[in-house]
Amino acid sequence: MNGIKKHNLHIYNSLTRKKERFEPLRSSSVGMYVCGPTVYGDPHLGHARPYTTFDVLFRYLVYLGYKVRYVRNITDVGHLVNDADEGADKIAQKAKLEQLEPMEVVQRYTNSFHDAMRMLNNLPPSIEPSAAGHIPEQIKMVQEILDAGLGYITQGSVYFDVSKYAQGHDYGQLSGKVLEDLIASADRDETPRSLEGQDEKRSPADFAIWKKALPEHIMRWESPWSDGFPGWHLECSAMSRKYLGFPFDIHGGGMDLLFPHHECEIAQAQAATGTSPVKYWMHNNMITLDGKKMGKSYGNGINLHQFFTGDHPLLEQAYSPMTVRFYILTAHYRSTLDFGNEALKAAHKAYQRLMNAQDLLQTLSASKNQNNWDLAAWEKNCFDVLDDDLNTAQLIALLFEGAKQANLLKEGKIGMDHSQLERFKAIYNTLLTDILGLRAEEGSHESDHVLEGVMDLVLALRHDAKLAKDWATADKIRNRLTEMRIKVMDGKDGSRWEKGD
Ligand SMILES: [Zn+2]
Repeated sequence: MNGIKKHNLHIYNSLTRKKERFEPLRSSSVGMYVCGPTVYGDPHLGHARPYTTFDVLFRYLVYLGYKVRYVRNITDVGHLVNDADEGADKIAQKAKLEQLEPMEVVQRYTNSFHDAMRMLNNLPPSIEPSAAGHIPEQIKMVQEILDAGLGYITQGSVYFDVSKYAQGHDYGQLSGKVLEDLIASADRDETPRSLEGQDEKRSPADFAIWKKALPEHIMRWESPWSDGFPGWHLECSAMSRKYLGFPFDIHGGGMDLLFPHHECEIAQAQAATGTSPVKYWMHNNMITLDGKKMGKSYGNGINLHQFFTGDHPLLEQAYSPMTVRFYILTAHYRSTLDFGNEALKAAHKAYQRLMNAQDLLQTLSASKNQNNWDLAAWEKNCFDVLDDDLNTAQLIALLFEGAKQANLLKEGKIGMDHSQLERFKAIYNTLLTDILGLRAEEGSHESDHVLEGVMDLVLALRHDAKLAKDWATADKIRNRLTEMRIKVMDGKDGSRWEKGD
């Protein structure tokens, strides 16, 4: 008995390309590494999806009773423009542009990232190491790769020898890329190889693990090979190894990182330690915006703070962090997800329905009415879909079924005894709040209560006006409310109201 709840969790392993039963390498603890952001700009939707996806996995594993060590790094050095071994360092470039020290850029956008994660209710990782804080570990790994004969030094830079590595290992096992194709397509590439860095490589498939810094490069460290900085892929290998040890259980990230980043991580770990680093590789799919790929270069890059304030020409209104979180979870993480104003408006309403049902449940009490809803089957279905590769889309559909039953309970159309009702409340809260991480929007409860009080008063005054046949006042009240997007519906038993969007 190790305190782990019985479960049947299966996750899709990108390495084997199939769903596999989740069995951690150590019986009751789980090591999970997720590639963190390169902090040279405000976080955008592309950050919201992976960190929300792996937050739900983290929450679920903790719920199941595992002791989870969740490591998510901060890339503050070495990530070059275009993700290649050439061009400027993304952070150094931004520092120049904003006339800041590189570490000021790092601090500013790390803070901005943390703010956005907190607003999205993503739990902080157990350890958040930074690349610049782990230079000795990376230098050690470069040396190990050289010692294994799988790296070479050219003019102070060190490159990973992919062709030599591929003679004894399966390079491309994760991404399905074929080395010969990579080399051939690089040969067809119009970009001249004389571009800085490229002509130092023996083969275009090779990648830098240490780069000699140019004189103007500010972020540099001493090493046996040159004053320079580590290659981007190396930090995740060095830091996951330090905090989780090879092999560890889960490595996550967006599909865009599958190649070259994660393929290179496997090669580096194999070369340096002779071990395959990860048991389960997991990748979330991408987000599109109105059907188009998203990003600065497409002219539709919207950062998360702009979503939360509505301050962007493509946004018709602000969308709360919980609306964004909910919408992300309405799709399975391996499906693409299209963001747009209409979808987000609908998501906000749907999210509120689930939260309202949670509030409603707290007010319900046991009743004698014949129970005709199978609570146990519903509960089993909820955990079955979670266990099926974290199908949050189906879980949300089942939560709507739960919300419907809560309303039937309120109307007295079904009944539940005390223990069943308590079970229903507990499971609904566990799924919605603890596992999906959805919570009431900040400040919404308080302002909702105030609004309800004010609306009761306004509708009572309008009722009085109607009784006094003061139609002008009654209409004026209704028209002003309509302007404020509050819809008033007159019925036999008085008037009701609801907020529009
Ligand atoms: Zn990484």
